[in-house]
Amino acid sequence: MVFIVFMEKILNYINGGLQEPVCKQFMINTSPATGQIIGQIPDSDAADVALAVQAAAQAFPHWSACGVQERSKILLKLADLVEKNLDALAEAESLDNGKPLKLARTVDIPRAVQNIQFYATAAMHLHDEAYYTEPQAINYTRREPLGVVACISPWNLPLYLFTWKIAPALAAGCTVVAKPSEVTPLTAFLFSKLCIEAGLPAGVLNIVHGLGHKAGQALVENPDVEAISFTGGTQTGKKIAQIVAPRFKKLSLELGGKNPNIVFEDCDFEKAVQGSVLAAFSNQGQICLCGSRLLVQKSIYDKFKQAFLAKAAALKVGNPALSEVQVGAVVSEGHYNKILSCIKLAREEGGKILLGGGPVQLPAPNDKGFFIAPTVIEGLSQECRTNQEEIFGPVVTLMPFETEEEALQYANGTEYGLAATIWTENLKRAHRIAHGIKSGIVWVNCWLLRDLRTPFGGMKQSGVGREGGFEALRFFTEEKNICIKL
Ligand code: NAD
Repeated sequence: MVFIVFMEKILNYINGGLQEPVCKQFMINTSPATGQIIGQIPDSDAADVALAVQAAAQAFPHWSACGVQERSKILLKLADLVEKNLDALAEAESLDNGKPLKLARTVDIPRAVQNIQFYATAAMHLHDEAYYTEPQAINYTRREPLGVVACISPWNLPLYLFTWKIAPALAAGCTVVAKPSEVTPLTAFLFSKLCIEAGLPAGVLNIVHGLGHKAGQALVENPDVEAISFTGGTQTGKKIAQIVAPRFKKLSLELGGKNPNIVFEDCDFEKAVQGSVLAAFSNQGQICLCGSRLLVQKSIYDKFKQAFLAKAAALKVGNPALSEVQVGAVVSEGHYNKILSCIKLAREEGGKILLGGGPVQLPAPNDKGFFIAPTVIEGLSQECRTNQEEIFGPVVTLMPFETEEEALQYANGTEYGLAATIWTENLKRAHRIAHGIKSGIVWVNCWLLRDLRTPFGGMKQSGVGREGGFEALRFFTEEKNICIKL
């Protein structure tokens, strides 16, 4: 299949076919790197959600009962098709999101392939428990797929996070109604065409495009949806939790972060600088795992600052299509304005801008794009809003610390607890700090090194539950214990 991504009229994928929203209303989709209109997005509402949920409910008996081997075969075929279309999908992702094409080609789309392959095979290894209740009974536990589930994903890693949810849900035997972010709907639409090509039975996966408070909320509220797997902002997560709590739906929430990146004096200096720049500015700082608070031990603070600033200043900001570009456009005009207002706030709070601090003006065709310079700020207190609130852009703060206790106090001093990175060559210290940090993920001397078998998720306001490995398969299934009297 050859995709033409320019001026794409996106359609919903419901019951195996592509269709316009019931209301026939569309929104415009713009490219953040040029400001140009690149297509139309369905402005779906509860009527489309109802059709999708109905299709998923009809597909559930067969999909859940056809056996894991059959599901695996189709999912692997789908993974192959995504891999075959890697270039077109990467181009679409970069166009829609503003991220460097190289990043989409080497990270986003390959990871989408891996997500599907991983769960297509992992599901075959999910085992049940059995207990011999000597001498009178045998108990065995059956994990049953939940039914129709909702997967709601954000815009920062569009196809990557979309497949990270739907792959385990489908592999576990659930049928899915998915809502990708309205900000970056393109690859999910192209993916729906690949589902048709792969022969995914009608209704097994349904993709409804539209706004969060409209299509997304209708999905969360739908009484026939058994569980919600959500990745997005903490405020949205709270809203969803409030809706589903009285309905006792299963809920997995992967939310925001304000992650510390802690550099000790005994680190491998070059690796720490290089890794910290990557953790700060990858994907324009729009990864929930980005290290946006750089905590550096006082004895090496000045040396680290200079080296970090030099590396960050050398990052090439520009047209995401160019292979030498490392920092592309931020995702939308709204988000661009939000990031700039955060930088303004940092100034008002007394922060000193060491690097960047504003927009980058590029020549045509990117003169109307949303580019922000990698920005480094120092001199702010731990308690100020800049160090407490998620910015989700190419903006980091630098803070010195003296002791391990102080580093831990700063690291744990926000309401978030998603990820942390520690740079030290002292193994005992690495363990001590890793154990003391309240976050779901800790990287030592690396960042974003992922093994899909590991649990993934946040503590505190960064979320509830874990994705990854068997955790996700367990989420999309429910145990039933069967006791047989001998
Ligand atoms: P968002 O919360 O605005 O939107 C996420 C998704 O939820 C979108 O599809 C949106 O349409 C939908 N949505 C919005 N309101 C809704 C509602 N009332 N009911 C149902 N659905 C609704 O988040 P975003 O701006 O797209 O993404 C950025 C956020 O996501 C950041 O906070 C980032 O940290 C977080 N994030 C977290 C992880 C993680 O794994 N923890 C990964 C990526 C992004």
